[in-house]
Amino acid sequence: MSNNLNSNANDLQSYWMPFTANRQFKSSPRMLVSAKGMYYKTGDGREVLDGSAGMWCVNAGHGSEPIIAAIREQAGQMDYATAFQMGHPKAFELANRLTSLLPKDLEHVFFANSGSEAVDTALKIALAYHRACGEGSRTKFIGRERGYHGVGFGGTAIGGIPNNRKQFGNMLSGVDHLPHTHNIKKNAFSRGQPKWGALLAEDLERLVALHDASNIAAVIVEPMAGSTGVLVPPVNYLNRLRDICDRHGILLIFDEVITGFGRTGAAFGAEKFSVQPDLMTMAKGLTNGAVPMSAVATTAKIYNAMMDGPTDLIEFFHGYTYSAHPLACAAAIATLNVYKNEGLFERAAELEHYWEEAVHSLKDLEKIIDIRNIGLVAGIELAPSKNKNNSIGYNCFLRCFEEGLLLRQTGNTMALSPPLIIQKNEIDRIVGILRDVIDHLE
Ligand code: PLP
Repeated sequence: MSNNLNSNANDLQSYWMPFTANRQFKSSPRMLVSAKGMYYKTGDGREVLDGSAGMWCVNAGHGSEPIIAAIREQAGQMDYATAFQMGHPKAFELANRLTSLLPKDLEHVFFANSGSEAVDTALKIALAYHRACGEGSRTKFIGRERGYHGVGFGGTAIGGIPNNRKQFGNMLSGVDHLPHTHNIKKNAFSRGQPKWGALLAEDLERLVALHDASNIAAVIVEPMAGSTGVLVPPVNYLNRLRDICDRHGILLIFDEVITGFGRTGAAFGAEKFSVQPDLMTMAKGLTNGAVPMSAVATTAKIYNAMMDGPTDLIEFFHGYTYSAHPLACAAAIATLNVYKNEGLFERAAELEHYWEEAVHSLKDLEKIIDIRNIGLVAGIELAPSKNKNNSIGYNCFLRCFEEGLLLRQTGNTMALSPPLIIQKNEIDRIVGILRDVIDHLE
């Protein structure tokens, strides 16, 4: 593709791009240079409909004026405040705003800067909590196959994506995995939560028997696995995990980095699926993607167990230079205001049916072997290409981009998660482009 930022190919070499086929990209770059509302603009001046809310984060659409104004104002007032042994008002305001939005038992919030950091923080809180309760032997974690929890050593180890793990040796030890819940034979073309699969949660009992509950700190799952292709939890699956954790004194961590902030048609996945975690990670939609920020919410029980010993002693030896960064706090408060003032979580719930009908209208295409949806999310899984050297998913992603639609591709699944401001005619446009592209894929 021609583009005016590619006048000198050498310009592209210094930047080692994340989760990107660097050589392929640099031989044929795809540059985004501006964004507003539902659309990006490319280096060669094309408009591209954002079908993935950036990377599951721009829930209020791009360039939201109140968020930009809040960041500008905060930068002028105080650019940075040290986060250790000092505070600033917006950090406390944001924590209070979040706790009033979160499921009722989550009463305290720890700030970090990315989903990966939030996950590592949640794992550390789980370990420190058990130790504070006199159960220091609880050090093992249970993740899930096809889970994605970021790229720290902890998150990589508890995650269940083979490609993300295989280059990095042992990582965190003492980790085991539940089976994933994806089963096309049983659940293909389910609308919303699949009916089959709750029994997969019982595998946790097997792992408890194997490792003994006295050694297990926490189970961590995404309420809906996003990054490995939109795996919606089967009916009753999450409740069963909750029950088994309760029976054995194991903490349940929901990684809501994707499912938070309206994505599923409720404020959080915990609310959508009516299951209460002990710890919850958030990021992405927290600031509408405008400034990096993440958070971990905990119950009062966990927080209070840690508030022990002499009052002038640091209770939790953990934190980041940029924890509760003033610009991030200002962006997050403004973002929460936008979500509320524009009724975006309600809007996602209202559009859910239209969205579901629209994406499932593609069912007749023979290259599609499954369509999954919840809230304003959909996964469209394509049959693998007969030619092993040809990635049908990647080709679909590229063709959609050329046709003016940006989506996420993971393996053969096309993941869609548009900003919650999307209009019905834009939903139709997404589906129209997909129909045309998928129909012509080889
Ligand atoms: N957890 C989940 C569920 C995610 O989807 C992601 C990113 O997509 C992460 C953690 C990691 O977030 P980050 O890329 O901000 O480190």
